[in-house]
Amino acid sequence: MSKPVARSVKAYSAAAATSPLAATTIPRREPTDLDVQIEILFCGVCHSDLHFARNEWHFTQYPAVPGHEIVGRVTKVGPKVTKFKPGDLAGVGCLVDADLSSCPYCKKGLEQFSPTMVGTYGGTDKHLGGSTFGGYSESIVVDEHFVLSVPKNLDLAAVAPLLCAGITTYSPLRHWKVGPGKKVGIVGLGGLGHMGVKFARAFGAHVVVFTTSESKQADALRLGAHEVVVSRNADEMAKHAGTFDFILDCVSADHDINAYLGMLAVDGNLTLVGAPEKPLPVAAFGLIMGRKSLSGSLIGGIAETQEMLDFCGEHGITCDIEMIRMDQINEAYERMLKSDVKYRFVIDMASLK
Ligand code: NAP
Ligand code: ZN
Repeated sequence: MSKPVARSVKAYSAAAATSPLAATTIPRREPTDLDVQIEILFCGVCHSDLHFARNEWHFTQYPAVPGHEIVGRVTKVGPKVTKFKPGDLAGVGCLVDADLSSCPYCKKGLEQFSPTMVGTYGGTDKHLGGSTFGGYSESIVVDEHFVLSVPKNLDLAAVAPLLCAGITTYSPLRHWKVGPGKKVGIVGLGGLGHMGVKFARAFGAHVVVFTTSESKQADALRLGAHEVVVSRNADEMAKHAGTFDFILDCVSADHDINAYLGMLAVDGNLTLVGAPEKPLPVAAFGLIMGRKSLSGSLIGGIAETQEMLDFCGEHGITCDIEMIRMDQINEAYERMLKSDVKYRFVIDMASLK
């Protein structure tokens, strides 16, 4: 395959694990046959962006351009594109490529588990070489299969985080059949957690939030929780022991998952979506006693992401956001580390122009 023509666009990147993010330029290819070129209007700030920029998962190549909660307007399409035309609103999440024709997971709509999956940032760019660059940039060019249609009735900036925080919580709640009659715990009221609360409530479950932040109690109830537990309070925790059907753990840092395994009823499941840098020790007896299970979940496939966006359009669900300028990103990362986000930062990409 010949290398497509590239043009230079503005972006924000980290030059090393210890460097703050700063203005730069990156190459973006001109659209090839099936490509959609999108002017990025808003990009959400996921905790994964911070893990990645600081090489906490040990695969970052520099310069690193994070950002995988992208919404914008289509500016150009390749000659074989059928799903989008210039002027359409569009979204891009955590995936930009995979071998759709030969991979059995892609055929089942599970592109996120394909060995050929290419992440929106930190993947191998098969067109230009090097690493893929994410959404902290003016524009992006993506194969139409990985471009989502965005509901027109919702606030566009508040839709952006659905592309990661939304699908990452929607998918495991659906997979584990959360609904009426189920008692569900959401651990960590951050970007993912607050969407977990909204979806679990919309699906009809009894929702309990576990938070380390006393100041978030009122918000948890406003967002849809039936009950809130401050996890630092042993008495409050003890009241719920052995009662949950399902717990979604959305915590970004080291914490005691054995305490949450103890909250599960017999046959209950705890699914980790949070991805802390260090391994979390698990006590075998926490699982053995009660035939409990511990799982993980990674975002969701493209069809399910579209299903989630359509569900949000129908039910008027968006993220609670705080808008920032691109040059506030380093400060936003520091606030994210202090759990001081209500509940997702979204970058107004006009501030990069
Ligand atoms: P976030 O907005 O920073 O929220 C994380 C929340 O975890 C905080 O608001 C806080 O909630 C809680 N927390 C933080 N430090 C804690 C500690 N030391 N002990 C206990 N609780 C703590 O992050 P996010 O964007 O939602 O992402 C959460 C995690 O999910 C990250 O590790 C991210 O990389 C990962 N992630 C995974 C996927 C996937 O596909 N599996 C996708 C996206 C993100 P309280 O204040 O309520 O305690
Ligand atoms: Zn993310």
